[in-house]
Amino acid sequence: MSLIVQKYGGTSVGDAERIKNVANRVAQSCAHGDQIVVVVSAMSGVTDSLIALAKQITPMPPEREMDMLLATGEQTTIALVAMALHAIRVDAVSLTGAQAGITTDGVHTKAKITNITPHEVHALLDEVNVVIVAGFQGQTAEGEITTLGRGGSDLTALALAAALKADLCQIYTDVEGVFTADPRIVPGARKMDEISYDEMLELAGSGAKVMQLRSVEIAKKFGVVFEVRSSLSDKPGTIVKEETRSMEDIVVRGVAVDKNQAKVTLLGVPDKPGVAAKVFRALADAAISVDVIVQNVSHDATLPLTDVSFTVDKPDLAKALQVIESIRSDIGFREVLSDEKIAKLSMVGVGMRSHAGVAAKMFESLAHEGINIGMISTSEIKVSVVIEITQADQALRAVHKAFIG
Ligand code: ASP
Ligand code: MG
Repeated sequence: MSLIVQKYGGTSVGDAERIKNVANRVAQSCAHGDQIVVVVSAMSGVTDSLIALAKQITPMPPEREMDMLLATGEQTTIALVAMALHAIRVDAVSLTGAQAGITTDGVHTKAKITNITPHEVHALLDEVNVVIVAGFQGQTAEGEITTLGRGGSDLTALALAAALKADLCQIYTDVEGVFTADPRIVPGARKMDEISYDEMLELAGSGAKVMQLRSVEIAKKFGVVFEVRSSLSDKPGTIVKEETRSMEDIVVRGVAVDKNQAKVTLLGVPDKPGVAAKVFRALADAAISVDVIVQNVSHDATLPLTDVSFTVDKPDLAKALQVIESIRSDIGFREVLSDEKIAKLSMVGVGMRSHAGVAAKMFESLAHEGINIGMISTSEIKVSVVIEITQADQALRAVHKAFIG
């Protein structure tokens, strides 16, 4: 008998029919005699519409209350999936994140899991074969409801798989696995059979919407091998695991574009020790994560001023600008600009470590399309560029064609 964690994303539970489909799949796994822990997202679109609703009430809703609101999305789905299983005579019990023993810190709307004590899950699995857990949510030690950041059901699933020492973890979604690029934008994109945690992390951090970034970090940390596959077919998906040697043969494993970033530029910043530290400390303290950072070289030696640009997630822009205003008098920059019409294009592959000229080839393929590069950042296994959002899809196709075909 195996213990399997199966996570079903929003589109896989998008309507009553889809929920019945999930119940049938779970029932099939049960028929093999396995114990199944099902983690579900909110039905597709629900989290977005709850957010939109809150914004109609007030532009910056209190984050504690956002968690109260958003946690209801997943709570709806666990109950419906449990009902669907009962209807086909499979014993199943639904649990909220708190009931499943998921404890988090108190950072509302992006809480981190601090501990999982799945006594209740184990106890129930002794009685019934299926336990359904609400993804994306947890509870602080003080009993406050929290959520784990957008896409957080993946995190619930992988963290539970680690805590339960599950034999298998399957992430069911509406695509057949991880693709070399978003197939809706790049017609030639292909499904990968396997990908390393590091590549998956870079891709998820680069806007490939397959999975939440932090969930892959947890999987890597605890060595949870998992499969990303479709809830609408029986085809094998993509296995995500520790890097193997043969993975280096492929220079670029995938290309992704992130249209959810915004650029902030500080003009006329004093070029002296401690300034960057203050700016990015203030942003970090506000729990705003910063991605690409570029600082110019200052030319005037008597009055050294420089410009600093960085990108943040679009939903964090308003907060980031507030933070920057709050340190204006301390730092003394001249002006702050922001631009939401940007996109970040990234290509990823562990094989880049051992191949030269990869960045040059990428820039050439963009130049050939007449696409201007605003910012560049690189890591051992990734090259990212910031470009205009209107050229994002064209750029993605060009880079995919140059490296993958
Ligand atoms: N429902 C949440 C979201 O839309 C969590 C998830 O789907 O994983 O972000
Ligand atoms: Mg999701």
